[in-house]
Amino acid sequence: MTYALKKPMPKEQVAQDLSEVRDRVTTIIADVRERGDAAVRDHSERFDRWSPDSFRLPGEEIERIVAGVPRQVLDDIAFVQDQVRGFAQRQRDSMADFEAETLPGVRLGQRHIPVAAAGAYVPGGRYPLTASAHMTVVTAKVAGVPRVSACTPPIRGEVPAATVAAMHMAGADEIYMLGGVQAVAAMAIGTETIGRVNLIAGPGNAYVAEAKRQLFGEVGIDLFAGPTEILVIADETADPFVTAVDLLSQAEHGPDSPAVLVTTSERFGRTVMEHIDRLLPGMPTRDFAAPAWRDHGEVVVTGSVDEAFAVADTYASEHVQVLTAEPRRALERMRDYGALFLGAGTCVSYGDKVIGTNHVLPTRGAARYTGGLWVGKYLKTVTYQEVTDPAASARLGEVCGRAARVELFEGHARSGDVRAAAHSGTALPW
Ligand code: NAD
Repeated sequence: MTYALKKPMPKEQVAQDLSEVRDRVTTIIADVRERGDAAVRDHSERFDRWSPDSFRLPGEEIERIVAGVPRQVLDDIAFVQDQVRGFAQRQRDSMADFEAETLPGVRLGQRHIPVAAAGAYVPGGRYPLTASAHMTVVTAKVAGVPRVSACTPPIRGEVPAATVAAMHMAGADEIYMLGGVQAVAAMAIGTETIGRVNLIAGPGNAYVAEAKRQLFGEVGIDLFAGPTEILVIADETADPFVTAVDLLSQAEHGPDSPAVLVTTSERFGRTVMEHIDRLLPGMPTRDFAAPAWRDHGEVVVTGSVDEAFAVADTYASEHVQVLTAEPRRALERMRDYGALFLGAGTCVSYGDKVIGTNHVLPTRGAARYTGGLWVGKYLKTVTYQEVTDPAASARLGEVCGRAARVELFEGHARSGDVRAAAHSGTALPW
């Protein structure tokens, strides 16, 4: 039996908010397409009060910014980038190219080729999301992308120095102080001063995620990585205080970030809610976390842990934290999530900031069809083929002729016919 202790705002209201986002994004993209740099500048001025001589940071400016970042911050960036690089490298190593002889004289192969240019969107409207630079730029470089452009907006008129350092240390080839829809559109379409890329990756707010969605096709995108979500599955063995702290850790991302608790115990759920009510007023980020919890917070009670796993799957949440007696059971039971955090020893914040798995993850149900950003998203999996034995080519030609004519493709059929006829020395049937 499943019931709600706390419900989120009605779905129709969320849909209404999203249609406003869609319309605004469409207008900005059309403007960048028509007016290029002039439009980029106008929208940057309007949304970020930012209109420098050049949006791209020159090399000497980058060096100056990095030199001003405290040593401990740089050391921590290096540590985290090592973790992200190590995990991404394991992913790359798991993607072997291959070539196989599938019939005598018939060789089929598969290769993974990095895109020529990738755009890394590093969010920064509210917080300097330094870690997103590791996730996007380091991973692209491990994939072997030759040109990586990285964009991030200024924060309240300031250049986010640690983020610039992280982009630079990760190996970004071009760094732009530019955010929002105008950044995504500039990278996707190209302007007089901002080069077009083949694929854009990185998280962002609802505007950024919608811009990537609308431009998909013209440019490749990693996935729909919009406002962050957390879902915690907890039984009575969990610590309700830690559970409350962890739920709020993601609610602070923004007022549109869902935080959901699925628990087997009503008493546990009520205790977590009491902790949240007590903790929220003292949180420095309460302006985002409080409306997020009020409008998008949910507490659901289930009859068993397995039922909790099944309920959690229906959310297909970006982050699923499992605080139960046997957390690894989630690996067997669950299918739809962006990333799993098993047991109290880790938490979503470790995944976001330090541990090494990628934090760019699917939101709004996209976990039903994709995982998060990984090295493979920067690679195109392509195939090739070669037939070196004329007899094999003739055999395939005969089948090709018949198969193509079933589909009424006479032109295709003839490509098969000429090979079959050449080998057998017979006349062409047409
Ligand atoms: P952001 O960089 O995504 O967005 C800031 C930009 O939004 C600004 O530069 C501005 O140009 C634009 N903008 C702001 N208001 C606008 C408006 N009314 N109309 C048009 N454009 C507007 O930074 P943010 O806002 O702090 O959001 C970061 C987001 O990234 C959060 O929602 C967070 O949850 C999400 N996130 C997601 C993941 C993931 O993997 N899914 C990971 C980390 C962060």
